[in-house]
Amino acid sequence: MTATDFVDGTGTQLDGDDAAQLAAAIAVCNPAALLMSMVHVSGDLGLLDEFAAELESARKDLANAQNTTGVHYSSGSGTPALPLGAFPDSVSEKVRVRAAQLLRAESTAVLGVPDEVLFRRMASLCTASDVDAEFIPLLFEQAGFRIGQRCVPVTKSPPEDFDVIVVGAGIIGINAAVKLGDAGFRYRVFEARDEIGGTWSRNTYPGAAVDTPSHYYSYSFELNPDWSKYYPSGPEYLAYLERVVEKYDLNRHIELSTKVVSADWIEREQKWHVRTQSADGAITDHRAQALVTALGVLNAPNIPDVPGLDSFEGTVVHTAEWSDDIDVEGRRVVVLGTGCTSVQLVTNIVDKVGALDVVVRTPHWIVPEKTVVNDVPQAERWAMRHLPYYQEWFRLRAYWLASDNLYPVPRIDPEWAKSHLSVSPVNDLVMQTSLRYLNESFPDRPDLIEKLTPDFRPYAKRIVKDPGFFQALRRENVNLHRAGFAEVHPDGVTTTDGEFIAADVIILATGFKLEYASLIDITGREGQRLAELWEFGDDPRAYLGIQVPGFPNLFVTAGPNAAPNHGAGHNITSEEHVHYVVECLQYLVENDYASMDVENQAMVEYNQKVDAALDKTVWAHPGKDVTGYYRNSKGRAIVPCPWRLVDYWTMLREPDVENFTFTSRSATK
Ligand code: NAP
Repeated sequence: MTATDFVDGTGTQLDGDDAAQLAAAIAVCNPAALLMSMVHVSGDLGLLDEFAAELESARKDLANAQNTTGVHYSSGSGTPALPLGAFPDSVSEKVRVRAAQLLRAESTAVLGVPDEVLFRRMASLCTASDVDAEFIPLLFEQAGFRIGQRCVPVTKSPPEDFDVIVVGAGIIGINAAVKLGDAGFRYRVFEARDEIGGTWSRNTYPGAAVDTPSHYYSYSFELNPDWSKYYPSGPEYLAYLERVVEKYDLNRHIELSTKVVSADWIEREQKWHVRTQSADGAITDHRAQALVTALGVLNAPNIPDVPGLDSFEGTVVHTAEWSDDIDVEGRRVVVLGTGCTSVQLVTNIVDKVGALDVVVRTPHWIVPEKTVVNDVPQAERWAMRHLPYYQEWFRLRAYWLASDNLYPVPRIDPEWAKSHLSVSPVNDLVMQTSLRYLNESFPDRPDLIEKLTPDFRPYAKRIVKDPGFFQALRRENVNLHRAGFAEVHPDGVTTTDGEFIAADVIILATGFKLEYASLIDITGREGQRLAELWEFGDDPRAYLGIQVPGFPNLFVTAGPNAAPNHGAGHNITSEEHVHYVVECLQYLVENDYASMDVENQAMVEYNQKVDAALDKTVWAHPGKDVTGYYRNSKGRAIVPCPWRLVDYWTMLREPDVENFTFTSRSATK
């Protein structure tokens, strides 16, 4: 379709830039989200019935074709012949034709935010799935339709002396700043680095990018219609966070280059005594009613302990410590590791280096993802900005397709797992996709196929989406070694296979050590140190992944067993944890309490349930000894959240006050 094909609802031919933009948008937009936008613009709910019927009929046709041809298609929603959430081409085309009749460049919404019943109907059609009622409140929020719904009744404002300290100005710290401010709390954010952004300020290696879709991996209260790629680059993500900081005027609350070194609970004051260190070494004391750590999880580079590493005369750098003055142009570069970071890095330096040796101790399961490096067409960016509610529905789909539909994938079917490397039929689908991609990528390189075939169960480590790694490995200047580093010499590396690789630059893409708040010396009631309780990070446990008995008013965001490792992204953890913190604090305010401390029994029982649920997953499976940051030294999975996202989100709506001991403000001195 071109601009000149475009007519409005009355059959009038339109021209000019906007008409051209609209025509181009209609041609490229996601048809399901486009259809929803049409419903908002026209207010015509008949479109829902009409296209639900179209979808049903097209599915039947595909099912019949399948029966007659014997071709088997992947099935998502229990209906044969279509990937999850997809509209058949015939239906997509009808949506586009109708959109060309209904939409104008300056269309506005007749239908605003729908009620829950209508929303469910629309969500089901938009995702081509049966969206169960239990998902509706979450989807309402996560798609960006309902912002900041509070649960604890708000009848009082926080008292003047109710200060909150947030540690870290990454995705969660910034989120906390916005929401604490909205709720009227006085707060400060201390950030050790000299800029905001956390992971995205620290990780500046070539090709650094988010591996969760852009339109979803952002705050639901701050959608961005302008993402240039379907998966954002690190710099673009950092720029997004900077814009949020500016928009909400957060800078006046954020103290950069200020490291929190310790926090001690002062019982008689019912406050945290927090000590910070500024860049010049000066120590400052602060008091806070509540302490929110927003340190992330992957914040301490894992530097392998390899003999001779210090003796290397060239450049050695961990990806998280990359600096722009590192020059790889024409040089002999060795990369250690094959996680998400490594594949992004290798893809992005292969054109520049003289020689590249990739040293792979454990090949990961790598899957193709066609949009991982794709630009969002300009026309679709226009649609995100101009077509009413298009971006909300687009985001809803992005969330839906990558969230609880994936919950079964890491879960073990014991019978299946007895005789397969995969753990269930659905887990096997991921494995087969990955193997097919590997085999098709290297039809003439059996050596590479052998070296790159993983031998651990899919999903035991994070699945890697390929931004071009396999293509890079085909280059003449690239060698792959299935080995580790045995020793580093002044002029190169000897692998565990005994091979010597001459090198100018060694890049350690070796991931991170987990640091669950052990970066700060936190001491709770009766002198209990959090680091000791958590065995110095090896066995952290918390109630709901956030609160720890004996540490009143401490909120460890993105704490143990809180990461949605089956789907979605860190952004949902950010929002649900921040929401929960604000609800807890409001509960204190409403009831004139100074503090809340979770009962030990509640923490123990919660963790028993966590461990029991994780026992049935590939993360805790006692099969092949899988290394990686999901598990601790004893094989316990300490990172993944065992619950469906909808369940965990629901648990975090407000505190279950039965599980806490409260201290009244009048008891403080
Ligand atoms: P990673 O997934 O932990 O991978 C580290 C790699 O280094 C593995 O291949 C590992 O091999 C290897 N390695 C570690 N120590 C080694 C040693 N001593 N000798 C040889 N090899 C060693 O780390 P990552 O790739 O940095 O990713 C970390 C997390 O950040 C992942 O969850 C990833 O998804 C995330 N990430 C996210 C984005 C994003 O989009 N948000 C971007 C990049 C990374 P073994 O498996 O044998 O230990």
